[in-house]
Amino acid sequence: MRRSTVAFYGAAGVVVLTVTATMLLAPFSLSARVILPCVAIPLVDVTALVFAIRAARRPGLDAATRRAWLIMSLAFAALLTGTVLFIVYRDKSALFPSPGDLVRLGLFLPLMLAGVLSMPRRASGRLDRWKVILDVGAVLVGGAMVMWYFVVGPAVAGASGMEAADAAAALSYPIGDLLLLFGVTLVLVRGVDAAARLPMLLVGAGWIFEIISNAYLGWLASHPGTLAATAWQYCCWTTADVMLAAAAFEASRSEGAARLESVSRASVSRLPYLGVLVGLALLVVATLREGEIYPWTGLVLGALVLVGIVVLRQVATLRENHELAITDGLTGLANRSRLHDALGRALVRGQRSGQSTAVLLVDLNGFKQVNDGLGHAAGDRMLVEFAGMLRRAVLGSDVVGRLGGDEFAVVLHDIGTAANAQSVVRRLRQEMELPILIGDVVVQVRAAIGVALTGPGEHGADALLRLADESMYRAKRAERDGADPDVEELAAALGDAVAAGQMRVHYQPIATLPDGRIVGVEALVRWEHPERGTVAPLSFIPLAEETGAIRQIGAWVLEQAIAQVAAWRTAGHMLHLAVNVSPRQLEPGLADRVFAVLDTYGLPYRDLIVEVTESVRVEDPVAVAELRRLHERGIRIALDDFGTGYSTLRYLTALPVDILKIDRSFVAKLDGTPEGKVVAETVLRLSQMMHLETVAEGVESPGQAAELAGLGCVNAQGFHFARPMAAGAVSDLLAEQSAANV
Ligand code: C2E
Ligand code: MG
Ligand code: MG
Repeated sequence: MRRSTVAFYGAAGVVVLTVTATMLLAPFSLSARVILPCVAIPLVDVTALVFAIRAARRPGLDAATRRAWLIMSLAFAALLTGTVLFIVYRDKSALFPSPGDLVRLGLFLPLMLAGVLSMPRRASGRLDRWKVILDVGAVLVGGAMVMWYFVVGPAVAGASGMEAADAAAALSYPIGDLLLLFGVTLVLVRGVDAAARLPMLLVGAGWIFEIISNAYLGWLASHPGTLAATAWQYCCWTTADVMLAAAAFEASRSEGAARLESVSRASVSRLPYLGVLVGLALLVVATLREGEIYPWTGLVLGALVLVGIVVLRQVATLRENHELAITDGLTGLANRSRLHDALGRALVRGQRSGQSTAVLLVDLNGFKQVNDGLGHAAGDRMLVEFAGMLRRAVLGSDVVGRLGGDEFAVVLHDIGTAANAQSVVRRLRQEMELPILIGDVVVQVRAAIGVALTGPGEHGADALLRLADESMYRAKRAERDGADPDVEELAAALGDAVAAGQMRVHYQPIATLPDGRIVGVEALVRWEHPERGTVAPLSFIPLAEETGAIRQIGAWVLEQAIAQVAAWRTAGHMLHLAVNVSPRQLEPGLADRVFAVLDTYGLPYRDLIVEVTESVRVEDPVAVAELRRLHERGIRIALDDFGTGYSTLRYLTALPVDILKIDRSFVAKLDGTPEGKVVAETVLRLSQMMHLETVAEGVESPGQAAELAGLGCVNAQGFHFARPMAAGAVSDLLAEQSAANV
């Protein structure tokens, strides 16, 4: 503790105790008992004023708090003036309002209220506002009951026998007291910065003593003759002013911003219960004093018990709410915030006991596939099952939590060595060996597990979690690399494949139905890998999309194919060209590059078809804009593999589509039966209604070709007509076809 703190509170304690002691010690006369407070209180007020001014000038506090303290400095100056006036006119101040009363009620109270209310408060929502109103209301009602019982009530009841001035005094002080009580409660309940909380609590506590002394004075006024020999009000005033001074003292040395973030605002204020308690206590006192057993004693007792029950019930609900707020609804594990708390506590405990703490971070592999493939209910099931595995793998006292999504964490307290943490990981892996059943699908749970361990006082919670996170990602990477060690090598080779001249373009003829005449070709890329031979696009296009190499590959294919088709056209074969374009290629500038290549080789815009799949995101404005630009110049857009992706119908309206390519999985179903042709027929009808062209993909048999022709499909491609082949082979085919036609 700092020396200034000891000095201040030591001195404050001495003042309060001395004044109290003088009250208690009978040897002094009444006037002697008053002399000491008359010296002590002004001194305390001066102290309060000095500290308030210091708070108002403290650079560490924010501007709003400093302004509030400036106003309160003025209030304390008024308080000091009022005190001095009271002392000077002490003997003549029996009549209300004395100069002291005027300064106190007219200056000190409004200034103090203004100062308190201008303390910066937290922003609050609508629900918060209601809570504040209710809490402040409870405190005010409690205060009002005190005032009514001791001051206002007796004044009203005995109005006839009371001096008008006494009645006015009896009313104005309670009103003033309640107003300031309102201000302080409002500020406290709404929540102030950490730096302002203690000072405001002290102002509130001081004000309670002020209220007690005023109640006591009111009591004296309405009961002339009783207790006339005591002067307890001086005791209360001294204590009240000491507390105001303490508030200013605390504010003058608090560091606003630094402590700001460390507060978590209590969700429930205890203040209203204070109001309830005071009100009930008064009720009991009044009932007992009346001495009337029937009916009041029983009724008041009943009311007391009822309120008690309601309060307990509320406490139970609050507990329950709190429990809900810190548990993960799906798995019943701790949620992120409880886990953080548990980790913080484990670290503190570890520091005390000299033990290590470890964190396991677990990320499920393949959760997305289960979720997407089997539905969300299945995904949830998997999470719940995995939560059970985690629980079984650790001790009951370890906290297991779900951080969100498919990420879990365990806090292992007092774990000892890293080997112990590893044995927990082994236990978890054992648990995971048993596959789980989701619906009628057997799923093997796989997960990447990260571990981080800290000795006592080595790392904080955040640092430890970060280490665990890094460890988990390392595990993930190791697992992925382990599953396919040459993916990385392949990805690297892909980057140089175009420059190394390893890419080829094959062409698959597109024919009209039913005559099978070749009217176009689709360009399909192949990779002639020096060691692996020909690599199919499905094995490297996804990788190229991931690494970005697809831009280079795509641009190369486009130019090759356009040049080739232009050459065929020069040779008299009027073909159109379809080229596949990946979503990653749909970037600003693509359309311009396509136009430039078409212009270079003189291929008409109408004869280029850009094929995109439903992996193009319709929400991506850049991709959609690029497609529009292509479309505006006459280039046609085809939706490839139509019907196999998501939100198919939305694509038709969001993208400028001209052609639907019926996926080969639907064509494969064509077997002459009505059931077999349902999808193909539906797609054909849909495109007719939307005035789109259709191309059937993957036609492998004459039967399928005939059936498609029967359904009104005009274009088709597939092994039945021709496989994808090198340009030379297509030239031969075209030559044959021309020869046949001649
Ligand atoms: P796609 O655009 O749907 O191409 C049609 C695929 O079906 C080709 O596979 C073709 O060989 C195959 N195919 C054609 N007729 C038949 C048939 O009758 N039966 C069967 N079973 N299959 C048939 P390929 O060449 O392996 O290409 C696979 C996918 O790779 C293409 O699907 C396309 O999405 C993508 N792709 C190919 N070349 C490129 C390219 O240059 N750029 C981009 N972005 N993607 C490409
Ligand atoms: Mg295609
Ligand atoms: Mg396709």
